[in-house]
Amino acid sequence: SAGRVNSLDQGGTVFAEFTALALAHKAVNLGQGFPTLPIPEFVTKAATDALTQNRLLHQYTRSEGHVRLAKALSAFYEDKLGRSLNPLTEIVTAVGACEAIYSTIQAFINPGDEVILMQPFYDSYPASVTLAGGIPVMVSLRPPSDRSSKTSDDWKLDFDEIRRAIKPGKTKMIIVNNPHNPVGKVFTREELEAIAQIATEYDLLVLADEVYETLVYTDSVAPLIKFASLPGMFERTITVGSVGKMFGVTGWKIGWAVGAPDIIRSIWMVHQYVPFSVVTPLQEATAVCLEQAATNGYFERTRAEYQQLRDKLHTMLSSVGLTPTLPHGGYFILADTSSLPDPADANGNAGAEEVDTDPRRDYRICRFLTKEAGVTAIPPSAFYDPADKEGRDQIAGHLARFAFCKNEEMLEQAGDKLRAYF
Ligand code: PMP
Ligand code: GLN
Repeated sequence: SAGRVNSLDQGGTVFAEFTALALAHKAVNLGQGFPTLPIPEFVTKAATDALTQNRLLHQYTRSEGHVRLAKALSAFYEDKLGRSLNPLTEIVTAVGACEAIYSTIQAFINPGDEVILMQPFYDSYPASVTLAGGIPVMVSLRPPSDRSSKTSDDWKLDFDEIRRAIKPGKTKMIIVNNPHNPVGKVFTREELEAIAQIATEYDLLVLADEVYETLVYTDSVAPLIKFASLPGMFERTITVGSVGKMFGVTGWKIGWAVGAPDIIRSIWMVHQYVPFSVVTPLQEATAVCLEQAATNGYFERTRAEYQQLRDKLHTMLSSVGLTPTLPHGGYFILADTSSLPDPADANGNAGAEEVDTDPRRDYRICRFLTKEAGVTAIPPSAFYDPADKEGRDQIAGHLARFAFCKNEEMLEQAGDKLRAYF
């Protein structure tokens, strides 16, 4: 095929590959991050009501965002941002956080502009930058070099590395994912302030992907600090969120961007020619969920439930020698797979159908775990620049990402399978 797709990494996303592989091998799928927990009744009811109670909701809604949802979002964010928001000018809804990210980058990144990404990155960032003709420039969140990280706090940024990566005038944006997928890091105020200082100095926009904002655990050193709430940052920050993460309904694909009116208008200018508007009944349902969650304790309950699941998976991974890093936010755990024999090595490959010649160790290990042990995880080198040898081999090569947004039975089954195998 011709055109910009040629500049994307070849093949499907890591999620498509490993979801298909898990299905083919009937493995317990702790790969792609989608919850398998029961959906609360107020959430399913909001969706059914939206489809059955008002026939107008079956038609297009306002392109910038369904008004009831924009109002519910401004109520949700006002407190957290410490300012009042105008729902009609400071919010745009999108087809998931993915489209909010894509339309933001299309709106602001011209061919040749550079965008700073932190490795490991969520894979839609470099793809969206590349599709805009921009250039993704990588900096890294790094674990201690002896791979001794105990919690996600042990992964650190090097602010001098960020400064060195910036070309004044050419670098337009930095993307900050907090809480972080896949590390689970919740950035401290000092870390965010250091990024804010750099953004001010070099006049950068900040895309704050905070889709896991409601999943920050009680042992996190810091509560989630919204980037746009830092002094002077609202004017240069695009805050992105998603109903999929907030209410455990990833199939709804409702997301949003929040920011200053001139920024939101620019994003909407792209958005109006991509989907034009977003699924009306599910925007209505998302609004109802937010309105009810303001008083029904859903966020507190869910956080406690996920924290238990996190701890369960953490204990299980430790017990089979896959040393986990305890995440303070989100729903993934990175585990160290160094203790496993490499499937590419003939001795470690006894019983496997064929030798996997993939040069990436974590891909070999994750395929092997799915096919032979019956448990699927995601190889984190998918979240690194293929040209970054250090990241791909020395960091990601020894890790696998396990999702704990899964019901207890699945986590138990995964434990049984791993224990039986090792
Ligand atoms: N950002 C991050 C960090 C994510 O993990 C995800 C979900 N995979 C998204 C964005 C996309 O969210 P959505 O499903 O709402 O498009
Ligand atoms: N955000 C989810 C994850 O990181 C799923 C992403 C996707 O399927 N594109 O696993």
